[in-house]
Amino acid sequence: MRAGIESIVELEIVQVGNPVLREQARPLSPAEIASKEIQKLIQSMRNIMHDAPGVGLAAPQVGLSLQLAVIEDREEYHKDVPAEQLRERDRLPVPFHVIINPRIAAMNAETAEFFEGCLSLQGFSALVPRARAVRVEFLNERGKKEVIEASGWYARILQHEIDHLRGTLYIDRMHARTFTSLDNWNRFWKGRPIRTISAALRLEPE
Ligand code: ZN
Repeated sequence: MRAGIESIVELEIVQVGNPVLREQARPLSPAEIASKEIQKLIQSMRNIMHDAPGVGLAAPQVGLSLQLAVIEDREEYHKDVPAEQLRERDRLPVPFHVIINPRIAAMNAETAEFFEGCLSLQGFSALVPRARAVRVEFLNERGKKEVIEASGWYARILQHEIDHLRGTLYIDRMHARTFTSLDNWNRFWKGRPIRTISAALRLEPE
């Protein structure tokens, strides 16, 4: 294993501008996945994601250019979200799990546009078009092959996290005119339908 992983005592979330967020992360071997270091890294990333709190965290976000991400969308995060928004976003709880060395493909041509944020772009948000449904092949934390077919918000989380493993951030995919501080999102745009926001910001129709 490359130097660095085992020597990191305290991990923290890195912010945009750190070159590690723009690297192509390297895959992990089955032996590495089984190692104490990677198992410990998974636990640390799980804790950091919960503390943030966030629904996903990729290894490059803690400064490690490895193809590993953790995901969990807890039901408790949904209690402050209006039911209509949960429905519109097709957002359901997702249990904690780990994805390693993923391959992702859209399941059809359908897309969805919603505002999203990133723990490495703290305090900002933008409207990002994504595939509505995806199929992901990956290794789990025991090195076993798994396949997920996901739609709605879960599909968006998977696309966002797997982008991190390729050095891609949501700002590469966003409608640039919608980029906003979270303060201003809450002040001007919160609760307004996407089509109203698109019209107000004079987005080009697709
Ligand atoms: Zn992110």
